[in-house]
Amino acid sequence: MPGLEDLYKEIILDHYRNPRHRGELACPPAHKTEGFNPLCGDEVSLTFELQSNVVRELLVIGQGCSISQASASMMSAAVQGKSVAEVRDLTRRFKAMMSIHETSIDPQVAPSEHEATFELGDLEALKGVVKFPVRIKCATLSWNTLLTGLDDLQV
Ligand code: ZN
Repeated sequence: MPGLEDLYKEIILDHYRNPRHRGELACPPAHKTEGFNPLCGDEVSLTFELQSNVVRELLVIGQGCSISQASASMMSAAVQGKSVAEVRDLTRRFKAMMSIHETSIDPQVAPSEHEATFELGDLEALKGVVKFPVRIKCATLSWNTLLTGLDDLQV
């Protein structure tokens, strides 16, 4: 029986090989935001259309490592039809999951209490990336890029 790590690897590879919501929307009316991770050479370009502060559609173009591109694909699938507030909340939870290694682990606390629940579905497949700190920026690139785009619009 495949373990959880194998399942996570499968999910990441599936998104890398078959990226969701690939392409570019016409700007305007869509908005464009681009991000670059110089540590790894990953690039993402996001175009998205908002309607009453809801992501009506978001498309991705990018190139780079499997983690960055799989994460962008997962992000694109996760944000379609969500409100800006929901997207911001999801981004906050995703980044919390990606930064958990940075929080000091208190040996007095039972291991289960360190196991935060993120309720992120497929996105949790990227949880293993925290073991490789150099790759965390790959995983968070598309999310930070979208946040920058939302901040620029002041929504
Ligand atoms: Zn990368």
